[in-house]
Amino acid sequence: MTTPAPLIDADVPRPVLDVIARLRELGHAAFLVGGCVRDTLRGYHPKDFDVATSALPEEVQRAFRKVIPTGIQHGTVTVLMSGTHVEVTTFRSESEYHDGRRPSAVTFEQDIVKDLSRRDFTINAMAWNPLSHELVDPFGGQEDLKARLVRCVGSAVERFSEDGLRPLRAVRFAAVLDFTLDPGTQAAIPATLPVFRKVAHERVREEFVKLLLSKRAEFGLELLTATGLLDVFLPELARADVEAARLARAAAAAEPVDAEIRLAALLADLVDPHRAEEIGVRLKFPTKTIERVRLLVTHARLEQHVGDSDPALRRLLAKVGLGNVEALTSVARARIQAREPSRLPEMEVLIGRLHTLAAVKPPLTSKDLALNGGAIMATLGVGPSPIVGEATRFLLEQVLDEPARNEPETLKELLRGWQQARGA
Ligand code: ATP
Ligand code: MG
Repeated sequence: MTTPAPLIDADVPRPVLDVIARLRELGHAAFLVGGCVRDTLRGYHPKDFDVATSALPEEVQRAFRKVIPTGIQHGTVTVLMSGTHVEVTTFRSESEYHDGRRPSAVTFEQDIVKDLSRRDFTINAMAWNPLSHELVDPFGGQEDLKARLVRCVGSAVERFSEDGLRPLRAVRFAAVLDFTLDPGTQAAIPATLPVFRKVAHERVREEFVKLLLSKRAEFGLELLTATGLLDVFLPELARADVEAARLARAAAAAEPVDAEIRLAALLADLVDPHRAEEIGVRLKFPTKTIERVRLLVTHARLEQHVGDSDPALRRLLAKVGLGNVEALTSVARARIQAREPSRLPEMEVLIGRLHTLAAVKPPLTSKDLALNGGAIMATLGVGPSPIVGEATRFLLEQVLDEPARNEPETLKELLRGWQQARGA
């Protein structure tokens, strides 16, 4: 068998090669597996290199000086080799999926083909020995890579019934790799949706985010809709009919590629901020993400501000926060591009104005005022009292109107005038 050229030229990190060489010296089988083989064959440098071996976890631990038993119950040990973390997992098969979520039992195996046969897709079920260049490809992974197909290993209905996350992974890989689903694989999705429903929301969210961040996010979202997967975890969008395509286009167009920005672009014209937050909670996004998405959804309709004065735009900046201007303008631009491209030029003018106003870091909160609480009380000749809060709000409005007023003397004068007017 001839070795495909990308494998010969591959740049496998030295520590990874050393781990494989050591295991082989001890008489064990050891291969690179999964995503790194797939990506190398496609001509891409993998983000991580996973090693699979016939050595039992205890044997792996004994073979190296520094190890971390990361997922020892599943057979995964992290080897620290020359400062690099290398994940080494014992060949295994998984039996008895009771609930469609996690295998109820893991059996360690001696045969690489057994390990490959429990993997999800043919393109993910190849093993490669980078020392000898042997490639183990029992399910036609190379052929499917060439045909740009995501195809289950074995019966798609069976594999999707074992682990309900796999159909979503199939669509995610199609979007990330710019592949299509093998017809048999796609056809198995609707029938196995009840199993998908049982999958933990965290796992769903992880795959969904990868899809949203992919090059073909729009296509991925369409495929999610067509297969019925979307209706299970984002029914709001699945039932948005015509509008859904536009929302998908907006999300896919949002740059820079960032989960919060893409999510906000997807949701901004679909739901109100409160619903957006509920969706974030349902999909178990981190709180920080949920809050940021909510803020972006709240203010996404920037076209409403096209005719606004500078003071009005500064008040918007005060609500959004300078740190979120970049993200907000990205969301607004993506939305307009998808819905009303003819309004893009006026949107760009507005975005330019917002950036210019933000660039000088104008005072936007009471903390930015040139007078602190003590100075305000001294100027008014009062002690702590509700009037101090009122005065602070008055001064903030003054500097939002005109940032140049944010000088101690100017503010004191304004304050005295305010006090007199109140007294009168
Ligand atoms: P990525 O580049 O997105 O990380 P990957 O192929 O490395 O892609 P992972 O989710 O990291 O994907 O999984 C690593 C490998 O483990 C896969 O290539 C596949 O062989 C196997 N695998 C992962 N999840 C499953 C699953 N749910 N069912 C079967 N095999 C799986
Ligand atoms: Mg991976």
